[in-house]
Amino acid sequence: MHTHLLPERLPNFANKFGYGDFIHLEHHRQGFARMMKGNAFFREIGNNCWDPQVRIDEYMAYKTPVQVVCTIPVMFSYWAKPADCLSLSQFLNDHLAGVVDDYPEHYIALGTLPMQDTELALQELQRLKEMGFPGVQIGSNVNQINLSEAQFFPIFEACQELNIAVFIHPWEMMGQEYMPKYWLPWLVGMPAETSRAVCSLIFGGILERLPKLRFCFAHAGGSFLPTIGRIQHGYECRPDLVAIDNKQSPRHYLGKFWVDSATHDPQLLRFILDVAGEDRVCLGTDYPFPLGDLEIGTFIEKMNLPESILEKIFYKNTLEWLYGTM
Ligand SMILES: [Zn+2]
Repeated sequence: MHTHLLPERLPNFANKFGYGDFIHLEHHRQGFARMMKGNAFFREIGNNCWDPQVRIDEYMAYKTPVQVVCTIPVMFSYWAKPADCLSLSQFLNDHLAGVVDDYPEHYIALGTLPMQDTELALQELQRLKEMGFPGVQIGSNVNQINLSEAQFFPIFEACQELNIAVFIHPWEMMGQEYMPKYWLPWLVGMPAETSRAVCSLIFGGILERLPKLRFCFAHAGGSFLPTIGRIQHGYECRPDLVAIDNKQSPRHYLGKFWVDSATHDPQLLRFILDVAGEDRVCLGTDYPFPLGDLEIGTFIEKMNLPESILEKIFYKNTLEWLYGTM
């Protein structure tokens, strides 16, 4: 789980909608394209970002036949006018559904939603369910509004009702405008963003009110699990600040949500397995991007974990997260 896929061709949404720094692609050389954010260069991607067969071949080199794919967070476009974001989301979701149709043994897709508009998000969620999507991917905040806010609750409630799994991916990292150097939004901002999302969903009582909703958090939950001691202590020493909307302790929720394995660090992954539980860690790569685990779980194979735990990490836990108890 946790790999990103784009269509090879994107309409020029900025021209279509008449505003905004929507992403478009410039295929400037064979096998590569420039992702352009408005007129600004965002990043160069290779054909393993859009060619399903190239991806299957690269994955098979690591004995991994199935990928759970979702769009690239920069495509979320929660800043756009809601109807335009719906239209963009539908385009991306239809493409993902097409890839799954063409390669049903190799791909499972998570849809994207116009989270800035609750009604439109619910509408697209219903359509995704009818199309057979088992889950959605959403950002760690929506235009800097935390996921604990009331406007998102009906969406989460519908996900629980429809048996739709939810993958939370960091994006629009807090403070990124103050730390553009050294890739800090990715190295510092992303782990903090993910912890922001976990904490918001716990302290806002979302996990408490929707106990059957299955969340999975990117990058092993970011800084949430490594700082669980601090978060728990904060809950205990200042309940007047922390426990105002939910009386349950943060540690109560350990083992109740999933995280991926993208840590690049066997020692940290052992800790994550300990704290989140061996049933809650899924092989996640962030492929095909450079910060991803591009050797698809090789570091996990070298950890001398029992076969039963490897099976859980490599597929069983992902199936349980996506579809519920098997
Ligand atoms: Zn990712």
